[in-house]
Amino acid sequence: MAAPAPLIDRFQRRISYLRLSVTDRCDLRCAYCMPERQSFLPRAEVLSLEELHRLALGFVARGVSKIRLTGGEPLVRRDVIDLVRALGRRIGVDQDGGGRLEELTLTTNGTRLGEFAEDIAAAGVRRVNISLDTRDRALFARLARRDSLPAVLDGIAAARAAGLAVKINTVALKGLNEREIPDLVAFAHGMGCAITLIEVMPLGEVDEDRIDHYLPLTEVRRALETRFTLIPSAHRSGGPARYVTLAETGGQLGFITPLTQNFCDGCNRVRVTATGQLFACLGGREQVDMRAALRSADPQAALDAALDEAMAIKPLRHHFAIDHRGAAPALARHMSMTGG
Ligand code: SAM
Ligand code: SF4
Repeated sequence: MAAPAPLIDRFQRRISYLRLSVTDRCDLRCAYCMPERQSFLPRAEVLSLEELHRLALGFVARGVSKIRLTGGEPLVRRDVIDLVRALGRRIGVDQDGGGRLEELTLTTNGTRLGEFAEDIAAAGVRRVNISLDTRDRALFARLARRDSLPAVLDGIAAARAAGLAVKINTVALKGLNEREIPDLVAFAHGMGCAITLIEVMPLGEVDEDRIDHYLPLTEVRRALETRFTLIPSAHRSGGPARYVTLAETGGQLGFITPLTQNFCDGCNRVRVTATGQLFACLGGREQVDMRAALRSADPQAALDAALDEAMAIKPLRHHFAIDHRGAAPALARHMSMTGG
């Protein structure tokens, strides 16, 4: 049998990375991510774990070698560990018909890692990204609208104790965690963890105007340079982050700059929501219904056709901006649908 065609879009970008959202639900309500009264998808619309598994393997068959489970908060989905285990068993194993999963990772807010870190590591996951915007308990409670900082810090400790490599993700927020960012960098590096800073993106209605807390990373970088020596690094994680190494700590610091410096020309990924909608671009509307393909009479052929369609519609770049007060979000969809 001929090897299945790899996923290559119109701009000759090879898609090797899937971000798979397992739920849009979350136990936190980060103010930049979703409103307090977020309405979640009816459970009946969400793919079953078995469907998520089959879908993931359909991507692997087309050359996707890295899968990140995300959400919402992936660890609030009941039995998600069964999916982690099922996919974990595929790591490093050649699939019948072609394809091989090389890496399975997770992005989590960390609140439930105390419970799950060991099982996740035992399933074959080696690295997790944990979001942490502040270590100030009162500010955390304000930002996430839940008093969950102790659980997150316990989660980080549990992940490290389980042998998982932890990368911290921090959204830079003007007037909120702005002054704390150098300390967060030092905290992450002090644990031997990398940290990546992210510009807030205008995705989905929230209860505030994002422009009030939008902080260009160009400014953050200047502030960091007054305390640390930033050495440009050739390190690439295959994603949008650009890295520096700090001379003082030896640790890695990434910058994800969707607004101040576009990075779409190297895009290697697509995203699938918990209802099986493939979004070809985080900042675009182009989508393909993978759930219909999965539930069709010939799922394998339909999945292949859907993936070819995704490659045909993947746009060159996103076009969102945060440039004036009162602007509607660039997209109605929240980040919690596609998982970042
Ligand atoms: N709940 C998990 C977590 O928080 O890590 C996974 C999903 S969350 C949507 C993934 C990442 O997106 C988090 O690091 C979060 O801070 C970030 N994020 C959410 N909304 C964002 C926005 N509007 N702009 C930039 N980053 C955002
Ligand atoms: Fe939940 Fe993650 Fe969104 Fe925060 S950023 S509300 S933890 S999905």
